[in-house]
Amino acid sequence: MGRIPKDHPRYQSLITREKLVAAGELIAGAGLIAHGRGEAFDYLLGERTTGPAHRAINAAAGLLCNAKRPVISANGNTIVLAAPAIAELAIVIPARVEVNLFHRSPMRVAGLAAILRKAGIEPLGEKPNFHIPGLASERAKCCRTGIGEADVVLVPLEDGDRCQALVNLGKQVIAIDLNPLSRTARTAHVTIVDELTRCLPLLITAVSGKASIENEFDNEKNLAKVMKLMCVRLETIQPMLKDE
Ligand code: ATP
Repeated sequence: MGRIPKDHPRYQSLITREKLVAAGELIAGAGLIAHGRGEAFDYLLGERTTGPAHRAINAAAGLLCNAKRPVISANGNTIVLAAPAIAELAIVIPARVEVNLFHRSPMRVAGLAAILRKAGIEPLGEKPNFHIPGLASERAKCCRTGIGEADVVLVPLEDGDRCQALVNLGKQVIAIDLNPLSRTARTAHVTIVDELTRCLPLLITAVSGKASIENEFDNEKNLAKVMKLMCVRLETIQPMLKDE
């Protein structure tokens, strides 16, 4: 990892990028692009967990706690950036974690599963035996006892097609996605518009019963509130920039 001075104003962001780059082939090239897109939306949010994100976190905690077979679907970015938090969340729910990749290769799945084992959990995903209907072959692969039979699936950083396919399969889907306009954000039942590593500790606290569960939740309305916050932020920042 390159040396990043601790006093750099974007220290945390640079460290995160370095982590993804250092993961080499475990992260698909498209994963790096997806991260950049997420960062852009985080700027618009002010790099903070907003009120609507807190409400979505509480709604997600309610779904996960009441699920019969909850599963966390983990891709490369999720595991490289947040394996310990994913493991902790899986233990407190409790839920299975399945390594599920858009660009699947046995080498990548094995490497990412090893990171989750190091974090203390035994993941599914290395021996896929179920196909999600409506998706092309490699992207459709998953495990019957994991995503296949899950009633609630948490998909941090999912692609829109697969999110839609999971919804079509009758799953309750929770997404974590900084982009409130993405197909994933709009298709999921609960979308947490927040940065992955920032919201996971809050989700763990909510699942552990230390936060009040949100029962009345409307994803569309909540996404509209997030977009409104982004607009207000841009409108208030603009005059400040003009003054400089
Ligand atoms: P869709 O297919 O859902 O319309 P997309 O083509 O942008 O969206 P991907 O390229 O798979 O889908 O990107 C996944 C999403 O993950 C992006 O919308 C990005 O904003 C978001 N994202 C990336 N990194 C993070 C992060 N660390 N925390 C939260 N969200 C993130």
